[in-house]
Amino acid sequence: MKAAILSDVHGNLEALSAVLEDVEGRSVERILFLGDVVGYGADPGPCLELLEDSAFRLIAGNHDHAAADEELGLEDFHQDAADAIRWTRSILDQEAKDRLEALPLESIDQGVHLVHGSPCEPAGWEYIISEKDSERGFGAASSRLILVGHSHIPAAYVELEAKRLFSGVTRRIKAEDPTSLTLEPRYRYILNVGSVGQPRDGDPRAAYATLDLESETYTLHRVTYDVEQASSKIRRAGLPESLAERLRSGQ
Ligand code: ZN
Repeated sequence: MKAAILSDVHGNLEALSAVLEDVEGRSVERILFLGDVVGYGADPGPCLELLEDSAFRLIAGNHDHAAADEELGLEDFHQDAADAIRWTRSILDQEAKDRLEALPLESIDQGVHLVHGSPCEPAGWEYIISEKDSERGFGAASSRLILVGHSHIPAAYVELEAKRLFSGVTRRIKAEDPTSLTLEPRYRYILNVGSVGQPRDGDPRAAYATLDLESETYTLHRVTYDVEQASSKIRRAGLPESLAERLRSGQ
């Protein structure tokens, strides 16, 4: 199975369209989406429709559930994120919100575990941004491959060994270069595919990954898209200026 894995589109239609076009040239069998269709960007509705049309599997991100559920408090979100969620709630129709709310929190298929933040309590939206975090993540899942997003920063953690002792399990983990990996059958992996619609690793190009389970390879791709167009739509929508600006810097 060869799949393209996308995450954190955040209403950025320009980035999503460019990524889907890039995916077309890579003969993948399916597209898997790791959550956060909406939030931050100016095109939440069109992004939802496009992902529903193109992805084999979609799971929920914290912004999707927050935008869908008007009752949910936004105290866990930064000011700009909360403003964007309020705006997204105002622009989406009820039917779209119902579809967002119905997205599952995780999916496990063929030894591949999809979850937005961490397999430790998926609805707690934890981040895996260190070897320490990944240790908890490996402990909470049994699949060999765990694909995540949420931090908007590509990362790869490899579990080289898990020793069972009286006191529990001791794991030997190392962080790897997330741009290109050959997967070893005896290791387990947590792979963060970065963000399509709001990269934060200093590279403003959209990020996504391909995973080939036959050749056991994982590759991160970067795609140039019309950042100016996406930014000016954010401004025109009256969303916070910082959200337009960070698309340019990729921070
Ligand atoms: Zn996100």
